[in-house]
Amino acid sequence: MQRFAGKTVVVTGGGRGIGGSIAMAFAAEGAKVAVVSRNESSCGKTAGEINLAFPGSARAYAVDVADHEAVQELGKQIIADFGTINILVNNAGVTRDGLLMRMKEEDWTTVLDTNLKGAFNTVKAFMRVLMKAEDPRIINIASVIGLIGNAGQANYAASKAGLIGFTKSIARELSGRHVTCNAVAPGFITTDMTGDLPEKVREEVLKNIPLGSFGTVEDIAAAVLFLAGKEARYITGQVLAVDGGMTM
Ligand code: NDP
Repeated sequence: MQRFAGKTVVVTGGGRGIGGSIAMAFAAEGAKVAVVSRNESSCGKTAGEINLAFPGSARAYAVDVADHEAVQELGKQIIADFGTINILVNNAGVTRDGLLMRMKEEDWTTVLDTNLKGAFNTVKAFMRVLMKAEDPRIINIASVIGLIGNAGQANYAASKAGLIGFTKSIARELSGRHVTCNAVAPGFITTDMTGDLPEKVREEVLKNIPLGSFGTVEDIAAAVLFLAGKEARYITGQVLAVDGGMTM
């Protein structure tokens, strides 16, 4: 079934991991996809893989989402290339973990600028177009850490909790134009971001996951596609935790 035929999707952080899987899943359902990441090599790779499977579906854009001006230019370029967009997925994210006692200002700023201001930048770039688009959706990839906090991740937790507040506010602001805005809060998902967790930490984390395993990137993509679909038209301002039961 081509659920997203005729739709255009922007996926930030689409170069690898969760974003790469989201981009591929949309293309598999008929969407055109703008794959955004920091490095040309990673967004280019994802777009290349998508085009191999679904010719002509993807374009790559190497932009730092934390750079406000660059993201406004990116918005113009993507609209010039695709004509419009229907769905914006704010997935680009980074961690700079450390206990607050040792956390540098730069670690705080980098994480907040990427994970939170990055979403502000893209919504600013695309909101006018989304307000006129068919079945418009904004989906922000938050984290369970934004709901429950985590020692050693004060910057990351603040950015993701902020993203949830941003999601709800945007949902209210844009509801009159039928643009829905929701967040997906992944638990622990197997990607580069969680790849270097020490075995001991991994074992501790698993004890707190009722379903007993880390999630997959496909688990998150499935939730995003659900929220992006026509079936979810009456859902807005929500946070969908996809976490194996961690935060129930
Ligand atoms: P990865 O580290 O595997 O990939 C992150 C992607 O984001 C990369 O494509 C990277 O670009 C891109 N990115 C990072 N910073 C920027 C920037 N400043 N501008 C543009 N693109 C950027 O992460 P995951 O796939 O694991 O995570 C994706 C999202 O899901 C993040 O928001 C993360 O916080 C969230 N999440 C992940 C969880 C997990 O367990 N993995 C759990 C909860 C939430 P490039 O490839 O060029 O480096």
